[in-house]
Amino acid sequence: MEVQPNEMSEQEVVSRNFIEQIIDEDLAEGKYESICTRFPPEPNGYLHIGHAKSILLNYGLAKQYGGRFNLRFDDTNPTKEKTEFVESIKADVAWLGADWEDRLYFASDYFDFMYEGAVKLIKKGKAYVCDLSADEIREYRGTFEEPGKESPYRNRSVEENLELFENMKNGMYADGEKVLRAKIDMASPNLNMRDPVIYRVAHMTHHNTGDKWCIYPMYDFAHPIEDAQEGVTHSICTLEFEDHRPLYDWVLKELEYPHPPKQIEFAKLYLTNVVTGKRYIKKLVEEKIVDGWDDPRLVSIAALRRRGFTPESIQKFVELCGVSKANSSVDYGMLEYCIREDLKLKKPRMMAVLDPIRLVIDNYPEDQVEYFEVQNNLENPELGSRQVPFCRELYIEREDFMEEPVKKYFRLFPGNEVRLMNAYFVTCTGCEKDENGKVTCVHCTYDPATRTGNFTERKVKGTIHWVSARHAVKAEVRLYENLVDEEKGVYNKEDGSLNLNPDSITVLKDCCLEENLKGAKAYESFQFVRQGFFCVDAKDSTEEHPVYNRIVSLKSSFKLPAQS
Ligand code: ATP
Ligand code: MG
Repeated sequence: MEVQPNEMSEQEVVSRNFIEQIIDEDLAEGKYESICTRFPPEPNGYLHIGHAKSILLNYGLAKQYGGRFNLRFDDTNPTKEKTEFVESIKADVAWLGADWEDRLYFASDYFDFMYEGAVKLIKKGKAYVCDLSADEIREYRGTFEEPGKESPYRNRSVEENLELFENMKNGMYADGEKVLRAKIDMASPNLNMRDPVIYRVAHMTHHNTGDKWCIYPMYDFAHPIEDAQEGVTHSICTLEFEDHRPLYDWVLKELEYPHPPKQIEFAKLYLTNVVTGKRYIKKLVEEKIVDGWDDPRLVSIAALRRRGFTPESIQKFVELCGVSKANSSVDYGMLEYCIREDLKLKKPRMMAVLDPIRLVIDNYPEDQVEYFEVQNNLENPELGSRQVPFCRELYIEREDFMEEPVKKYFRLFPGNEVRLMNAYFVTCTGCEKDENGKVTCVHCTYDPATRTGNFTERKVKGTIHWVSARHAVKAEVRLYENLVDEEKGVYNKEDGSLNLNPDSITVLKDCCLEENLKGAKAYESFQFVRQGFFCVDAKDSTEEHPVYNRIVSLKSSFKLPAQS
């Protein structure tokens, strides 16, 4: 389902309250004195826009209620996790503005508590060591229609279970040979409650605990303990965990935590026409279809940052999305709307010619240079003004000249007069071409009386921008479109492959920027008049060879939903 703007605003009003309502009630009833939320990433990849939603939601609630927000790495699975990802996740969360203060935790730091918890369950007769293989366990579990079958090991004595579990810990068994299972109910309508595995043997080195452990807790057992150890009150997660909530509550009840946290689920954020699944992004990276996890066409946080998105724009986006219990996709255009709105008043409007052609003003003195004072942002006078050099030879956009104009073309063509933005009126006198008939240079004359500022005697229909040829800064500019083909959809229905858009990147190598852009630093961004917002690429740009990414163009078909 795609959310229509109007529906979305309603949903926003309703949903913005659903988690808040629960918290209000809990506080009113004195269930908790203050609240604590957390963001629990698994360090197995880079964060994306969906995670940003979770981060800002959890952080925002903690802030709103004067509570605490924790960052906790859910690193209980040693197979997939890497320190590289820990660092990138920390950087991304911090960049988004979510401050965990001194509360950075690792689930692996709680392995001792988890082990003790498991022993406690065994002693209560609520857990047992099972020798069935993974396949057998699956077979015994039953289906939605049929109840499961009890494991033949289910009724081992507490003593035997304690001994076997200790043996598991001491490395006496091979991977998969034995597991520890919670003893709940093989006939439960909820499959997650049919004696789930809570500990497994895995002889693997963990990025944090090294070789200390060869048994590792399963997510459903570990997560509630992690939350409870930290005093988390509201454990917010996505809808796929709804069916796991009874198990979450069971673990906390059996381990007798006095103030157990409460799990609350909300719908994941999906965006139209973008790839978010880690598996697909990994493939794109490995096949070198994109330039790493931070390729500006992706929606990982690192990619958005490199492209030139700001934390404020993502905060605004997440706010507009609202929180809901129903799965839906949000129009990618809304993300673009948010960055445009954020940059509109903050950034200077510079002149840059992306597809240059030379314009010679034949009656302008050859060695003369004039400086025009140009407002940096007409809507925000606080940004001040700058001096822009002008001389006899300029660059203009190739598309701003037509030898034979089409109807309603008001830019340069022989005999026509236009305004050079912030400078003079010029009248086109002709052009030069190469042997293939390609225009190489346009000629014109200027009228000194039309100098910008107070000339009002006659009007022209076209205004074009320009860059002084002598002062131009050469640059590479990269324009982006969606990585996947909007018409065909993200995934190919037949084989699940990605429908890639062959035009997702256009590299323009001979762009000419105004002199004031010289020395712009990585991540600095600007508006280029008529072209959009652009950001200095943090990976490839150098002083000698500046590279800019287009963040977003100026035009949009996206309309903000009417606010109620
Ligand atoms: P992916 O499936 O994209 O790899 P994940 O859920 O495996 O993501 P985790 O590191 O396990 O990634 O998730 C950390 C937190 O982010 C979890 O609480 C998860 O529910 C939340 N989260 C993940 N994807 C989204 C999303 N699209 N929208 C909102 N929250 C999300
Ligand atoms: Mg995951």
